Amino acid sequence: MSLGTSFMRDGEAMLKPHLLRMEEPGMTEEWSRVRARLQAEVGDVEYRTWLKQVVFAGIAGDEVTVVLPTRFLRDWVNKEYGALLAALWQEENPAIRRVEFRTAAAARGAAPDLAEPTPALAVPAPTPARTENAAALDQRFTFETFVVGKPNEFAYACARRVAESPATAGFNPLFLYGGVGLGKTHLMHAIAWELSAKRGGQPVSVAYMSAEKFMYRFINALRSQSTLEFKNELRSVDVLMIDDLQFLIGKDNTQEEFFHTFNALVDAGKQIVISADKSPSDLSGLEDRLRTRLGCGMVADLHATTFELRYSILDAKAQRAGVEVPAKVIEFLARKITSNNRELEGALNRLVAHANLFNRNLTMETAHEVLHDVLKAHDRKVSIQEIQKRVSEHFNIRIAEMSSARRARNIARPRQVAMYLAKQLTSKSLPDIGRHFGDRDHTTVMHAVSRVTELIGTDAAFAEDVDLLRRMLET
Ligand code: ADP
Ligand code: MG
Repeated sequence: MSLGTSFMRDGEAMLKPHLLRMEEPGMTEEWSRVRARLQAEVGDVEYRTWLKQVVFAGIAGDEVTVVLPTRFLRDWVNKEYGALLAALWQEENPAIRRVEFRTAAAARGAAPDLAEPTPALAVPAPTPARTENAAALDQRFTFETFVVGKPNEFAYACARRVAESPATAGFNPLFLYGGVGLGKTHLMHAIAWELSAKRGGQPVSVAYMSAEKFMYRFINALRSQSTLEFKNELRSVDVLMIDDLQFLIGKDNTQEEFFHTFNALVDAGKQIVISADKSPSDLSGLEDRLRTRLGCGMVADLHATTFELRYSILDAKAQRAGVEVPAKVIEFLARKITSNNRELEGALNRLVAHANLFNRNLTMETAHEVLHDVLKAHDRKVSIQEIQKRVSEHFNIRIAEMSSARRARNIARPRQVAMYLAKQLTSKSLPDIGRHFGDRDHTTVMHAVSRVTELIGTDAAFAEDVDLLRRMLET
């Protein structure tokens, strides 16, 4: 209990508490006690559902900071349990007056806009929904801003169709699935915007919420004995959208409630749109009858992105941001950041912010510099064997020649190219690379690297060859 005072000396209370003092032993003990009391207070189920993820981040002056993984959780836990947490904490440590809730990104001190593009840039927009259960829609997520390509054209077409004529047979429910950041939420919001815009005067009530929030509302309704209201409210909407349904896995009561809501709405001719990370049949842990109903309408998947789609998305977003990003940089990012559109967008946002901040043109150098960490994480591990294979194929020689002693130009040159690429694309040392090429000396590798570098500068056709090989190996 001495800890509170030790941080209150001269003006420290003014400091924003992302400076963590976890090493102070008393502090974590204090948090343990508060946590135990919290658990006793709210019960196991609620604790496990909402509060277990609360991480203690530090104390500054009279303020405790805790961190939650998502914005949604942060807001929810703050609203529902903030006062209780503060009160319990104060009982443990009278110096504490306030509890500050943060998301992980904000607590790391990162500019949240850049580190966490989707949630942080989300502007709470006027929502077309009438029910207070709905979450605000992101204004940027419309059909106009959705870039269509091979991997998502089917899902896009289905979403369009539902927005045009909801509750059409064969499209109800619409089940969108795919990996993280591929555009599920974007498409759902787009449907909601479109519906609200189309009907003009005639209001359509759309309830959009994450499965997490659905569960939450439900548990809360149980707690406050207002389940009937909750049910009626949900059953009065025209369109119900539940995002990230996989969160309901293992939550049996909530699944049951969802199942009934689902049936009531479909029977009443209302549209349902669901998203999840897997197809209904692959979502293990869902009740069978729910799984069956989910697969009854239209199931559309969003595939992993392709280079072309990534390129178009970046191009469109750069234009929207009004920043000139050279084609070379766009191409580079589209090749490097292959995981998902969210990361792609995050990388672009960082570049754009940098360009605006320093009022400088973007170049490849800036891209490398600004995105150093992101790019490093995406470095694909290429093996020397793979390089040798590709290069031999390209120059039409046998792979054994990579290690042979022959010095004829038509053999030696490709071998040098392979050594050069091994140096560029792997983290192997020169002697290591030499060993893979028939136990050659590291000076031979060094010579190969400088020879190839020289040729790239003087022979355009050769440079193109090497560039092509590099790209093949990198993607
Ligand atoms: P998911 O819900 O599938 O995890 P999101 O819909 O949140 O993914 O998409 C992540 C980010 O990528 C969002 O900012 C979204 O606008 C963007 N995005 C995804 N797909 C596209 C696309 N085809 N065109 C434009 N932006 C996209
Ligand atoms: Mg999503």
